[in-house]
Amino acid sequence: MEKTLIILKPDALQRSLVGEITSRLEKKGLKLIGVKMLRLDNAILQAHYAHIVDKPFYKGIEDFMKSSPVVVMAWQGFECTESVRILVGATNPREAASGSVRGDLAIGQGRNLIHASDSKESGEKEIARFFEKSEIFEYEKLEYEHIYEPYERK
Ligand code: ADP
Repeated sequence: MEKTLIILKPDALQRSLVGEITSRLEKKGLKLIGVKMLRLDNAILQAHYAHIVDKPFYKGIEDFMKSSPVVVMAWQGFECTESVRILVGATNPREAASGSVRGDLAIGQGRNLIHASDSKESGEKEIARFFEKSEIFEYEKLEYEHIYEPYERK
């Protein structure tokens, strides 16, 4: 099944929204397969944000992302990347749909609480960037028969 990476950014920790956001992912039916807290450094941020490293606002993001620890999580679910992106909402919280994490809980452009992988391939790459293999867990989620059709459970 597909895997995706989430980062709960410093604003999520500072605003005590770790539980609220994690709860939304859990209630969606996703399986938590890895979680830890860490401080990010410039090297990992430049790799993670390689697509915006040349933007004028990048330095601000780098400073912000190092301003406190973050929580990184790996989640798994059937075609979960797209579902998680919808649950997270648009990059600019002021344009994010009501009901999404960013739409409900954030307003400032660079303070949008959460990162979510934008494709299955990015998810795999990002999980490998932030986790050792031994930190990702395989286990059976017993409620799956109430969450998925049989063909979606493989
Ligand atoms: P997303 O996080 O939705 O995948 P991007 O990968 O395009 O979005 O951007 C990465 C992060 O950079 C965003 O989550 C946001 O925190 C920040 N960002 C993007 N665009 C801007 C901007 N114009 N001004 C400030 N910060 C921005």
